[in-house]
Amino acid sequence: MTPLAAVVSGPRVRLFACLLRLGCQQAKPLQLHTGASLAAKNHYEVLVLGGGSGGITMAARMKRKVGAENVAIVEPSERHFYQPIWTLVGAGAKPLASSGRPTASVIPSGVEWIKARVVDLNPDKNCIHTDNDKEISYKYLIIALGIQLDYEKIKGLPEGFAHPQIGSNYSVRTVEKTWKALQDFKEGNAIFTFPNTPVKCAGAPQKIMYLSEAYFRKTGKRSKANIIFNTSLGAIFGVKKYADALQEIIRERNLTVNYKQNLIEVRADKQEAVFENLDKPGETQVISYEMLHVTPPMSPPDVLKTSPVADAAGWVDVDKDTLQHKRYPNVFGIGDCTNLPTSKTAAAVGVTGEDQPFCGSCSIWVGAEDGSASGWLGGMAIHPWMAPGPKSQPLIDREQHEELKI
Ligand SMILES: Cc1cc2nc3c(=O)[nH]c(=O)nc-3n(C[C@H](O)[C@H](O)[C@H](O)COP(=O)(O)OP(=O)(O)OC[C@H]3O[C@@H](n4cnc5c(N)ncnc54)[C@H](O)[C@@H]3O)c2cc1C
Repeated sequence: MTPLAAVVSGPRVRLFACLLRLGCQQAKPLQLHTGASLAAKNHYEVLVLGGGSGGITMAARMKRKVGAENVAIVEPSERHFYQPIWTLVGAGAKPLASSGRPTASVIPSGVEWIKARVVDLNPDKNCIHTDNDKEISYKYLIIALGIQLDYEKIKGLPEGFAHPQIGSNYSVRTVEKTWKALQDFKEGNAIFTFPNTPVKCAGAPQKIMYLSEAYFRKTGKRSKANIIFNTSLGAIFGVKKYADALQEIIRERNLTVNYKQNLIEVRADKQEAVFENLDKPGETQVISYEMLHVTPPMSPPDVLKTSPVADAAGWVDVDKDTLQHKRYPNVFGIGDCTNLPTSKTAAAVGVTGEDQPFCGSCSIWVGAEDGSASGWLGGMAIHPWMAPGPKSQPLIDREQHEELKI
């Protein structure tokens, strides 16, 4: 397959400029915040925080650069999940088991897995602390901690998930509840929500609506289902061409979309959802439901919010072209936890493998002979899609918000 970077015309110019800049950086080594080495197992040349899509991908690449024995991943979870499959799990098209594997099986061979949670970052001393009281130092740090789900910011959740009519594809604990709610549905309102925060895979809150509609049709329940998408946003999609196509589908399938509606409370015992009108703060509307799919509010992980690597909003503050931290040159960020202007998706992380097109767009190099560190990120965001439409994976220029021609 032709590498994407070779055929995309617009961003190519920016990539070239970026590489030129890197050439300059390598000519003048950066001053790194390198500290004294601790005992062998407490110091790594490359330390990766988070063993999700971004962390595992970067650990594999760093292993090739600096050798497996010099790379470690800090990740508390015993299981690694490929979250995009959860859309299909929620719609009953895939079993949950197909989305997960033992974490041990995805850690690149020879790379150390530190099974712990990061509780503190100290980039001035080039070290982090874990919840089992370990201090681990590094020469280079890659932060890939993902985005945090804040169900508790909605009154009545997460305890409301004990009731069978509510599901959420966003968590391994609640994704199967979506499929149960769909199967149990008899008649009434099927409500799908989109929160008033940044989210990962902004298409997923809609994808489950389209799949649910198809399921209702297939099972003869469609005429009894009033399908409602209540979104905090003011538009169905950020790119006009796709917004227009979606509006057509919404009209054809008789779906109701209400804009600027933010889910603030779930009264699970009464099967009622409370929405605030974002255009008229304080004005609320109560809608009863037979089925509710919740996309939770999301935010940067708590451990980052107050750390020195965060920007004012709590995201890892990286250069949008190099992934390098703006103040700590030996620190990099990738994926959902950063303030990169890409969509928060696995596709944008560039997880599709070395010989796949996306990986050409996102790479970090460390350990150059002169001790410098650098990286670059291509100029695109990727909006994966699963609704009927002209393309399954439109590639969107991250700054112009135009579709890339490939
Ligand atoms: C329902 C759903 C559908 C999606 N559909 C798509 C799709 O179709 N296409 C697509 O490209 N993307 C999709 N995504 C988004 C995609 O899964 C994420 O964008 C991607 O996983 C981001 O990778 P990441 O490495 O930044 O974060 P993650 O993969 O979430 O990894 C973060 C890791 O950090 C770990 N961690 C968290 N806190 C700590 C801590 N304190 N210490 C140590 N480790 C910690 C976590 O355990 C986790 O393993 C979907 C997501 C969901 C939920």
